[in-house]
Amino acid sequence: MASMTSTGAPIDHNLRPQDLDAFFMPFTPQRQYKQDPRIIVSARGMYYTDSKGHETLDASAGLWCVNAGHYRTHINQAIAAQLEQLDFAHNFNSGHPLVFDYAQRLVKHVPDPLNHVFFTNSGSESVDTALKIALAYHRARGQGTRQRLIGREFAYHGMGFGGLSVAGLVKNRQAFGLLLPGTDHIRGTHGLAANRFSAGLPPEGAELADDLERLVNLHGADSIAAVIVEPIGGAGGVHLPPQNYLQRLRDICDAHGILLIFDEVITGFGRIGACTAAERFGVTPDIMTTAKGITNATVPMGAVFVSEAIYDGFMASDQPGVELNHGYTYSGHPLACAAGMATLDIYEQENLFDRPKALYPHWEKSAMQLKGAKNVIDVRCFALIGAIEMSPRPGAPLARGAEAAKRCYERGAWVRAIGDSLVLSPPLIISEEEITRLFNIIQEAIEATE
Ligand code: PLP
Repeated sequence: MASMTSTGAPIDHNLRPQDLDAFFMPFTPQRQYKQDPRIIVSARGMYYTDSKGHETLDASAGLWCVNAGHYRTHINQAIAAQLEQLDFAHNFNSGHPLVFDYAQRLVKHVPDPLNHVFFTNSGSESVDTALKIALAYHRARGQGTRQRLIGREFAYHGMGFGGLSVAGLVKNRQAFGLLLPGTDHIRGTHGLAANRFSAGLPPEGAELADDLERLVNLHGADSIAAVIVEPIGGAGGVHLPPQNYLQRLRDICDAHGILLIFDEVITGFGRIGACTAAERFGVTPDIMTTAKGITNATVPMGAVFVSEAIYDGFMASDQPGVELNHGYTYSGHPLACAAGMATLDIYEQENLFDRPKALYPHWEKSAMQLKGAKNVIDVRCFALIGAIEMSPRPGAPLARGAEAAKRCYERGAWVRAIGDSLVLSPPLIISEEEITRLFNIIQEAIEATE
């Protein structure tokens, strides 16, 4: 456990909140949580420390976002230096030097022709921005009938109304009314029995992409603006794309003039052994959403990459004035740009985007050893992502996942449960020894759970 900051100040491990009542917490069963709160007081490298002094290995990189590990002094110092230079300037009909330089540098990391980038503050805003760009682009080039937005079952695209409307997780949707009109969903790729325990990309299910043809036949291609998918579904419980599925989706979109959006909020910035899933899978979307790892989670930021054709479509408008009436006060915030620049330095200098591939043989071997563990019905793994799925306890779905995750925490690994799956996405700096320890902890926790 670290005891000092880089400035020599002591880390206070005795921090405690005075009262838990006022904070209305996100995605938390808070009546339960506030009885026995987990309070995190510091983080270094691969590890968190809580207010009881208990240290845990971060098996989730925060929430799929701290890809370079915690407390990177280079990033901290860049943020502090930027504060001294310029704390804030907006980018509405104005601009500061860093936001332009950062945009130029960022687009070099994503495949051609995604050569332009729009800044947001989160994954949810990136998704809503992407959907709006798709609609506005079609309208700008005289195809304003293309208004339908297609998502996929089991998808997670953040919690804005746009993202929620194309998402496919019923619990997230059902409390919020009718959502956007004119959305529809293709079938999910998860749950094929033949794909269980298939390490890497699952062999079966490429033909599920053809479900888009069903929606084309139902609605007419000229009513469909875009299809959005996560190249690898994360928050739904790690759903890997069947081999050739993404290429097939790309081909169908091309055949019908439908834009393809990849939501790379979790796959972006190294998680799967390249900067983006588009690069790793060799399938390039028209629009790509990112966030999270872009600043190593130090300052909130998101980025939406658009193709040359889309950008040119807006710039070719015969209307004078603003080409896209959209933006956020903090689009391209100087502190976020400084954090993003410094994060790219680390990714580049430490070759972190290559690490998931190098670690994968050990990752896969360790994960697959859980085949045969108590109640385990599937293990999925690819790059530095994994999921260990347990059968739901009869009459008490989610209980097994929650109990096993709690046991992992007690044994020194902070693992997230999504449903009855334990889901893994550690910082890319994890060592082989830490991978071994993580899976040993998970095995013990699963075996101890009825
Ligand atoms: N899209 C995907 C694929 C995500 O996984 C997430 C968050 O996990 C989001 C969008 C939303 O990101 P945020 O929570 O930053 O709004």
